[in-house]
Amino acid sequence: MKFAIALLGGASLAFGQTFSSYKNSQGITFWQANFGTRVAASIPNAQFGLALPPASATSLNDEYIGHLAVPIPSSGTWMGIAHASQMPDNLLLLTWLNGNKVMTDFRYATDYLTPAEYTGNAKLTVLSSSVNSTFYELTYRCEHCWTWNQTGQVAGSQLPKAGGNQIVGWAEATTTPTNPSVQTAGIVQHYADGLFGVAVDSARNSAYTSWTALGASPTSVTTTATSSKPTGSVTSSSKPTSSASATSSAAAVAPSCTSGTAASSLGSWDYVVVGGGAGGIPLAAKLTNTGKKVLLIERGNPSSGRQGGQLKPTWLQGTNLTQFDVPGLCNEIYVSSAGITCPDYGVLAGCILGGGTAVNAGLWWKPHPKDFAAFPSGWQSSDMQAAISRVFAKIPFTEVPSSDGQFYQMQAYGVLGNILGRNGWGAVTAGNTPEQKTLNYGHAENMFSHGERGGPMATYLVDAMAKNNFKLILNTMVDRITRTGGTATGVTVEGAYCGNITLNAGGKVILSAGAFGSPKVLFRSGIGPADQLTIVQAAEPGAMIASSQWIDLPVGKSLQDHAQTDIVWTQSSIQNYDFNAAFTNPIASDTQAYLSKRAGILTEAAPVFPIFAWHEVTGPDGIARQIQWQVRNGPSHGISSSNGITQTQYLGRGSTSRGRTTINSALNMVVSTVPYYQDPNDLAAAQTSMSIMLGLMKQDSSINMQYPASGTNVSAFYAQYPVTTGSRSANHWVSSCKMGTDSGLNGGTAVVDPNLKVYGTNNIYVLDASIIPEICSANPSALIVSLAERASDIL
Ligand SMILES: Cc1cc2nc3c(=O)[nH]c(=O)nc-3n(C[C@H](O)[C@H](O)[C@H](O)COP(=O)(O)OP(=O)(O)OC[C@H]3O[C@@H](n4cnc5c(N)ncnc54)[C@H](O)[C@@H]3O)c2cc1C
Repeated sequence: MKFAIALLGGASLAFGQTFSSYKNSQGITFWQANFGTRVAASIPNAQFGLALPPASATSLNDEYIGHLAVPIPSSGTWMGIAHASQMPDNLLLLTWLNGNKVMTDFRYATDYLTPAEYTGNAKLTVLSSSVNSTFYELTYRCEHCWTWNQTGQVAGSQLPKAGGNQIVGWAEATTTPTNPSVQTAGIVQHYADGLFGVAVDSARNSAYTSWTALGASPTSVTTTATSSKPTGSVTSSSKPTSSASATSSAAAVAPSCTSGTAASSLGSWDYVVVGGGAGGIPLAAKLTNTGKKVLLIERGNPSSGRQGGQLKPTWLQGTNLTQFDVPGLCNEIYVSSAGITCPDYGVLAGCILGGGTAVNAGLWWKPHPKDFAAFPSGWQSSDMQAAISRVFAKIPFTEVPSSDGQFYQMQAYGVLGNILGRNGWGAVTAGNTPEQKTLNYGHAENMFSHGERGGPMATYLVDAMAKNNFKLILNTMVDRITRTGGTATGVTVEGAYCGNITLNAGGKVILSAGAFGSPKVLFRSGIGPADQLTIVQAAEPGAMIASSQWIDLPVGKSLQDHAQTDIVWTQSSIQNYDFNAAFTNPIASDTQAYLSKRAGILTEAAPVFPIFAWHEVTGPDGIARQIQWQVRNGPSHGISSSNGITQTQYLGRGSTSRGRTTINSALNMVVSTVPYYQDPNDLAAAQTSMSIMLGLMKQDSSINMQYPASGTNVSAFYAQYPVTTGSRSANHWVSSCKMGTDSGLNGGTAVVDPNLKVYGTNNIYVLDASIIPEICSANPSALIVSLAERASDIL
């Protein structure tokens, strides 16, 4: 499934915003707008004003004076200003409160990720600031702010032009930054964002140069509320820094234990499992059977109501269910993802208890026997069958999640199934015949149980929680493994617990933090390619293990994902359902059916996946590649229709392209090389599959092909389709800590050996999607849980 996570990502231009002239008590005239930030149900408007030098003052063309009035929600806040139309690749100004001081810092992001410290020469001088219980206000001079240059990264500019608009983005959060007293305070993703187009000619003022002198005189800082202040009176004010010049190099905040319970209070453990997702939960649960002490550390909040999750729409109030428990609400993460998805990855992943199994569509496929062909001995299909049987006995698949035994809005199964059936494709129940993926089609199979999400959190985790040798800690991030040479002695954490957690003698650390989280912990522990460890060392020099202890392994280098390509069609019998409205403004009979009987459309994974189809296509290189066609209700690619379908081609097993994930100076994980169609044989196979499918669909004249337009040449279609994570990712990332016998220590591709142990270490292991040596046939979560079952036999 596709997802566009964005800081300032969903912003739309708001040129209709009303700007007017506003003179503050210092006599500065701004071209200013009031705007609603929507960060709380009832909160006053914010203000942004811009004053520009006269066009004749060309030496000042790279600066402005800004005015911000920021409403403060009860949960705290920060507000950011972007000096162009998007968050990445331009100068960002962050503002927040430290007590009664307004703090500022320049940041820079190369993607929709937590920004790094800005390293260019922008300079901010506070002209005045004030704080009261409902607002903070800042008037500042921003020099070198319309051109930017993040050393070694990207340069850009937006110099004011006569008759033009200065595009300025804003973002406001509903959480106070961590460590608010330091300039490098940490932030979590904002809640709301938007854009202004400020008329340059209206913002210019010939008195500008006289106002800049205000910055030279601290005594002239205003300490009283201004007449335009939206509400309330000023209770205190101060000038925090007379000049916040961003000339320091990028620095990640080292974990500090100013908050959180001392981690040492947890005692020491035989197994420390890092990450409570598809791999970590079942593995930790099964390891409790050894009788040894097992600690599962999860960085996020609880998701399901079963473990204390709270996020829910009004209609679930009073129940023990959250939005994560109701399949029909699984798409809510595409509406609001703050506190759910990982803010430090450039792609979508769940950073909440359950990981991907909390946020995904619950598709649950018994692994194809060929999916194990690339695994080493001990992990071949025959080795895996006992583990797979145990998994499916615990979490059976269902094709009909509704308790009334009915399918809901499955019209596309009839439409496409008829065409495929007429052409010799066989209908299957895929969970009974996982190997039949050559010219087959079937219904979606889900891990849902009793109309709820079910899966590892409802089964394995419940078992584990009943054991007294198991402990789960939440909201606790593992920063790194502490080690002496190749032997781990524990982990360093921050969050709800802070400090070091130790291992018992003979203990093991197992990373189950996912295809990006496990590489990140390894990098921060001095394990990975030297170029990545060097970046970490520069970012957190005091915390990184000495370079003499680094272990050089190809962590992050074999990355794969299903390459997806959508086609969109409409057909008159198809009905789409408004699952977004099911959150905010649901149909009463549907919520009633769900709440009283676990029946109806809300038991289906949003937006309903009516049919799947599979075939194998052999590329010019003679390698057979698995294609999965995943059909979902609802159009995409800008097509609007209430009877639309998006049919997505997943290029899977057999594809040979590999990408790479790397870390940047803000310690964000990015996909620096996309794994899609690097090998032309992969592209050729995808195009062949597409030609076959489009040819079949032409047989039904009731189908209106909308995208690509009927008759489009298939090669041309692929040529214009962006090869980016945003366009192609299926969120099925694997292989960043590849398992194999070709040790990366000796120039091979493997990071972990067939016993899951990281090469060059004695007691550090990985078990999650990242070890899968080659992208699988279908959605991977059941495969990962099966690997965890098998791993519990070994660890
Ligand atoms: C939106 C979406 C939809 C999907 N749909 C499907 C589907 O329908 N069916 C399917 O089979 N697959 C689906 N997938 C893929 C599937 O969910 C993932 O492949 C799978 O969950 C990966 O398992 P994992 O154990 O490797 O990592 P995850 O399940 O991502 O778990 C990793 C866990 O580690 C935690 N963590 C990370 N770093 C740290 C740290 N440093 N300290 C402590 N904790 C940490 C994270 O918070 C997370 O809980 C989907 C994925 C997404 C994102």
